Amino acid sequence: MLLPKTLDPIRVAKQGAHLEGQLSLHQCERLQAICDQADLKAQVIMDLNMDIKANVPFIRGTIATTVNMVCQRCNKPMQYDLDIPFSLSPMVSEKQAKNLPSEYEPLMVHDEQVVVAEVIEDEILLALPMVSRHEVGAC
Ligand SMILES: [Zn+2]
Repeated sequence: MLLPKTLDPIRVAKQGAHLEGQLSLHQCERLQAICDQADLKAQVIMDLNMDIKANVPFIRGTIATTVNMVCQRCNKPMQYDLDIPFSLSPMVSEKQAKNLPSEYEPLMVHDEQVVVAEVIEDEILLALPMVSRHEVGAC
């Protein structure tokens, strides 16, 4: 199945689904604020299912992408390759996060929907280095 724009992750996890698709980074405002992402795309694979043991829904997958950043030494653009595994557990209340197995990060769901692009952008932002620089001697 292709990546939908929005998703009811708890309902879909109960049914089980495998989603694959591309996300244009240009549409991600917070990544655009860092640097123009031009035509870069993220390759996203995600599986939604129930963790029977913990009795929680999960979204598990990987994001493979290249992000444009600005080198903080020379101020020129640089590309940063990322391969991000993620394990999220969608939930409606922060109380549920207390008993969540540590392998999952909580994903708050409002009005039964998440915007898929925002979830992916969050993961990319978390994976970016605090400081981006070309390799020593490269600039
Ligand atoms: Zn540089």
